[in-house]
Amino acid sequence: MKCNYCEWRCDLGPQTLGVCRMYHLSEGAIKERFPHKWRTYDIAQIESLPFYHAYPGSRSMTLGTVGSNIGCSYYTNTYITKEDPASLQGRIRMYNFTPAELIHMAQKLGCHNIVFNVNEPTVSLPSLLEVSHYAKKAGIPLGCLTNAYMTEEATVLFASMFSFININLLGLSSCFCRNSLGIPDSLPILRNVAALANLCHLEVSTPVIQSVNDHELDEIAAFLLATDRYIPWHVFSLLPEHKTKEIASSSIDSTHAILTKYRKVLPYVYFHNFIDSDWVNTQCPCCEQLVIERIGGNCLTGYHCLETRCPRCGQDISILVKQKF
Ligand code: SF4
Repeated sequence: MKCNYCEWRCDLGPQTLGVCRMYHLSEGAIKERFPHKWRTYDIAQIESLPFYHAYPGSRSMTLGTVGSNIGCSYYTNTYITKEDPASLQGRIRMYNFTPAELIHMAQKLGCHNIVFNVNEPTVSLPSLLEVSHYAKKAGIPLGCLTNAYMTEEATVLFASMFSFININLLGLSSCFCRNSLGIPDSLPILRNVAALANLCHLEVSTPVIQSVNDHELDEIAAFLLATDRYIPWHVFSLLPEHKTKEIASSSIDSTHAILTKYRKVLPYVYFHNFIDSDWVNTQCPCCEQLVIERIGGNCLTGYHCLETRCPRCGQDISILVKQKF
């Protein structure tokens, strides 16, 4: 039976696993191999995840399982995302919590929202669907970070489960996708970015490694400009990890120069390596008033909007705020 969660559309059988190794065929249906088993749960400031335009200053309970459907060559969580999930179950501690227990825990910890942020949510969708059901009942917004290599059907499911999503958009060229992500091309991801931008609150992240994907920044900027120039775009200069360890660290100056070109047309572009600079602050796209201040990139220090609007000119700043829930 074909799995329609992501673009691999793997043919699964009782003994045949797909690329992510997180689903199998059982009793005539596609089921998770490890339902309700969580690798991590933690507490974080929402800005650190990163979300800059969703519930500024809020406390998030973060969540993760294991497994991924793509093979990023420089993902720092590779051991969690790519190792055989079955062998990890025995080697690392997995937490067994029902979705109702997770919601209770988030409430007890004083968290405003829950964000699935460690690995790819597409590989744990049925469990997350249950979490979303209980979260909605409790009035707790659910968000996630994703590579967006899901099918169109799963995109609709994502939008029904998650009210805020951050997509890792690493590069667009087929050459980059094949060599660094192990997927044929970025077309499904781009299709899903455009769809999700209309269906929920969306932010985009691009970790940059020199000579791996720094040359992709112009094309990503052009794509965001054509899709929705108000999508918040987080750019990070990464230290080389995993298969890219031998590569020199990214040039912060060159990334800075590229992003500076786009700042006028992409008003919510953020460069996280320039902490304590205005690259982590939000300015009104209309009158350039400073409307949100952050320090260290991860900590909210000033929220000057009136609800979601610029206090000077009244421009909407495209922010999800707590009052809406
Ligand atoms: S979610 Fe996993 S099993 Fe399903 S199509 Fe994608 S890689 Fe294959």
